Amino acid sequence: MKTWKKLLLLLLVLILLSQIPFAYRRYKLGRLNAAIQQTNSQRVAIQGDVLEYRGAMHVHSFLGGHSTGNFDEIIAAAKSNQLDFVVMTEHPSTNFSTAEMTLQGVHAGVLFINGNEVSTAQADRLLVIPGNGSAADTHQHSTQQVVTQAKVRNATVFVAYPEEFKSWESTDYDGVEVYNVYTNAREINSIVMFFDGLWSYRSYPDLLFATFYKRPAESLRRWDSAIAIRKQRLVAVAGNDAHANVGLALNDTSGNTLLGLKLDPYERSFRLVRVHVLIPNGSVLDAETLRGALAAGHCFIGFDLFSDSSGFRFTGANANETRIQGDEIKLESEIRLNVTAPISSRIVLLRDGNVIQIESGLTRKEFTVTERGSYRVELYLPQLPGSVSEQPWILSNPIYVR
Ligand SMILES: [Zn+2]
Repeated sequence: MKTWKKLLLLLLVLILLSQIPFAYRRYKLGRLNAAIQQTNSQRVAIQGDVLEYRGAMHVHSFLGGHSTGNFDEIIAAAKSNQLDFVVMTEHPSTNFSTAEMTLQGVHAGVLFINGNEVSTAQADRLLVIPGNGSAADTHQHSTQQVVTQAKVRNATVFVAYPEEFKSWESTDYDGVEVYNVYTNAREINSIVMFFDGLWSYRSYPDLLFATFYKRPAESLRRWDSAIAIRKQRLVAVAGNDAHANVGLALNDTSGNTLLGLKLDPYERSFRLVRVHVLIPNGSVLDAETLRGALAAGHCFIGFDLFSDSSGFRFTGANANETRIQGDEIKLESEIRLNVTAPISSRIVLLRDGNVIQIESGLTRKEFTVTERGSYRVELYLPQLPGSVSEQPWILSNPIYVR
């Protein structure tokens, strides 16, 4: 055989060999898909003690730049995901109020509320809900000033991108976006994702998320310590940070897409992670009750791609009263913390950010605690194959034992 033929053959063999891991990763996604279907089929319904609604937070449209998505796409995606609400957080514009122009009210049965994602003089970023026309000049003001101005008009303020946030000592913000799809996606290795995409995008476009999804350890640590140090309640939420522009695309010279691998079209993004809010029986979901539940921490984060987390409950009870996640409760002799899950899970109990107890294979667990502190739980699904089993499925808000 001629040398060039040998070299060509060698190259071909190398190319084939290099694809083995990606073929195997596709096989693993198939197994994960089957396991998720199996797990979802085992969900048990939980009695309606409170009303639960699920939605997506931190969503951008074409209005503030950065994004290409239009309102029809966002409404259709929310509807196809059977979301109850969407919290829009538009980047500001100096020429008009993006918060006033974005989706508000009920569209196709989904409640939209408006907000802004703003940047401050310290380059801290905040989600301010509702937003207003003054969002465009926040970069001239300190983080504390922006928070104070928002609170004066009764807006709810969440710290966005907590791993870059510098002003933890400011006061009066309501919570922290502890998980953000976009932040997590920045850790993607584009070469690996390119070949994963070639092999798996057609069959498992949503589950490609599982190849990079990771517990947001640093954000959780900062949130936990802010609560512990400041002795204040801080709500955790998750942001889809949907722009419909994350991914890989190969275009030809006339701009036609040859290979499009969109990781965050709204429809997909809304499937990955959701905020579930809890509202008292007898109330209705509207802009006011939704904002009230978010500000009070009456909510939890569910990575619903891996199984629907609806029905998860976390309560605390002393001899006189029962409180839900986000609430404070007075320590008498002891507090009973009750966890109910729609699917058998590994339940991890944390106090002030430290793991204090782990229980596996349960849909119900009562923990008895006798110390003050902020208690929260993380639920895992160890029955799912691969790295997903080691990442949280549900992140609760804390119960503050005082
Ligand atoms: Zn954003």
